[in-house]
Amino acid sequence: MTIDTSREELDAVVVGAGFSGMYMLYRLRDVLGMSARVFEAGDNVGGTWYWNRYPGARCDSESYVYCFSFDKDLAQEWTWSGKYPEQPEILRYLNHVSERFDLRRDIQFETRVTEAHYLEDLNRWEIKTNQGDHVLARYFITGIGCLSTGQLPDINGRDSFEGDWYHTGSWPHEGVDFAGKRVGVIGTGSSGVQSIPVIAEQAEHLTVFQRTPQYSIPARHGTVTPEFLDEVKGRYEEIFEKNRWSRAGFHYDEIERSALEVNDKERREIYEAAWEQGGFRFVNASFSDIGADRRANDTASEFIRAKIRETVHDPETAEKLVPRYHPFGSRRTLIDTNYYETYNRDNVDLIDIRHSPIEEITANGVRTQDGEYALDIIVFATGFDAMTGAFNRIDIRGRGGIALKEKWSEGPKMYLGLASSGFPNMFTITGPGSPSVLSNMPPTIEQHVEWISKFLDYMRTHDIESAEADASAEADWVDHVNDIASTTMYQLADSWYLGANIPGKPRVFMPYAGGLGTYRKKCNEVADAGYEGFMLTSQNPKGLHSQEPVLKQ
Ligand code: FAD
Ligand code: NAP
Repeated sequence: MTIDTSREELDAVVVGAGFSGMYMLYRLRDVLGMSARVFEAGDNVGGTWYWNRYPGARCDSESYVYCFSFDKDLAQEWTWSGKYPEQPEILRYLNHVSERFDLRRDIQFETRVTEAHYLEDLNRWEIKTNQGDHVLARYFITGIGCLSTGQLPDINGRDSFEGDWYHTGSWPHEGVDFAGKRVGVIGTGSSGVQSIPVIAEQAEHLTVFQRTPQYSIPARHGTVTPEFLDEVKGRYEEIFEKNRWSRAGFHYDEIERSALEVNDKERREIYEAAWEQGGFRFVNASFSDIGADRRANDTASEFIRAKIRETVHDPETAEKLVPRYHPFGSRRTLIDTNYYETYNRDNVDLIDIRHSPIEEITANGVRTQDGEYALDIIVFATGFDAMTGAFNRIDIRGRGGIALKEKWSEGPKMYLGLASSGFPNMFTITGPGSPSVLSNMPPTIEQHVEWISKFLDYMRTHDIESAEADASAEADWVDHVNDIASTTMYQLADSWYLGANIPGKPRVFMPYAGGLGTYRKKCNEVADAGYEGFMLTSQNPKGLHSQEPVLKQ
């Protein structure tokens, strides 16, 4: 279905109908009273939770914080069933949100934005889609997701495989029947660790191809009790407010204690208790310096290694699973249900492809240096071209026709992760240089959407036609993002945070590691100072772009 929009003019075009695009639409239309359309490649809302339907898919954020906080009634009326929300439940929630705020009428589905060009003389964005739409908009806002562009590795012979294959990030809606099948899973990141135990229960045989062993913490998943939900709902406003100013978008009481200030026995007991709590609480409930001090970190890494050896019966398999190439927390922490236990099953084999790499995919399966593994189905749990992938798949051009992709050829350059110099009136929800993927994302998304909305309102009330990040403010912010990253564990591993999972991608740490609360404060200060770091250009009567900035902060 295509809406005829030839040269249609709108106040704003938003790309993506996940948490970000949905909330942005609500603010633009229902709060600011602007005309807006969302273009979404999928055929419904949900974003991540629309696409990632693999077995075992669920959130690692606890359900009571993985939700919108902007509407009190919405928060009160929705009831989560699980400690961690599973993919179908999050999708139901987002469908509920879209119905409750009547969002779908301004979302055009099955439509991929292919081009967005800034027309300097009109000071408008010209947006084109794969459905032939052609729209002019004053504002171009992306909510295209940090993890929305799947990465399928370019393995020799991939297309010759005669069985079925799937990527976890683009899973068939009707599901996959693994019964009686020999299945291979390539990849042991979050998606692999979640799907492997479930596939193992369904398949005749499962072969896991692991390149880098990981640290995974038991989720301790379960249902949530009505008493817990009542308690949470009774003080939701306080919880949300704490989350907004927290480091990671959720607030757990911090324990100020060094792993190096206790003796071995005490340390072990503290880790055991934190392990029982499970999930991200393992970190918060143990020691405060695991992420900052390498010697403290070593104690956590060693504790998890011992847990793997305890859990996995076959010592050879256990040793393959023991992580030794990076410290705990230098990659996204994994959270699982029965991941290590799965390797005790008779129908599961683990293949170490770091030491015996995959040479090719054949018609019958996967061939490594050591032999061929016959398979009926291959699951690629191989991750995403994260943070910049979705941008690079749109031909985005700013002032002077410069392509965003070209500007970012050595790594993304953004001011606050919200705007890029040379691209006036373009805003990016969870763009590179913002906390995004280092946090529980709904509060982070809300902060961006609300900040952008406030800015658009400011522009309107101050007759500002165009806002563009100042190049020097942007350069300073990029330096700041790098400086903070250099003090973290994240530099000690190859990860998608650094673009290391994509051949040829510049190795730059992309998210902002200073924490959501600190970041929120900075964004508020920028706004309070009249949008410091932005060049603001006055409106002229013809609506044409004036070169004279009225305010240059
Ligand atoms: P998305 O949900 O990714 O939505 C972006 C949308 O943009 C997609 O629907 C896509 O189709 C659309 N799009 C992209 N390009 C175009 C285009 N050119 N034209 C049209 N449409 C386009 N975060 C957490 O905080 N906690 C978790 O536990 C957690 N678990 C996750 C589990 C998985 C499997 C994945 C992949 C991510 C997880 N995340 C988690 C991150 C998650 O992406 C965010 O929490 C959140 O859902 C992001 O919402 P979004 O709207 O910004 O982006
Ligand atoms: P990922 O973390 O990037 O993991 C990809 C896996 O595939 C890694 O094990 C990687 O090995 C392997 N791989 C990639 N290319 C390969 C190749 N050519 N040959 C062999 N192995 C290859 O991707 P993901 O698991 O999809 O997770 C991505 C992010 O999405 C997560 O970090 C998280 O932020 C989010 N996510 C969250 C949840 C959740 O919260 N519940 C669930 C899923 C995803 P190497 O390690 O050796 O590179």
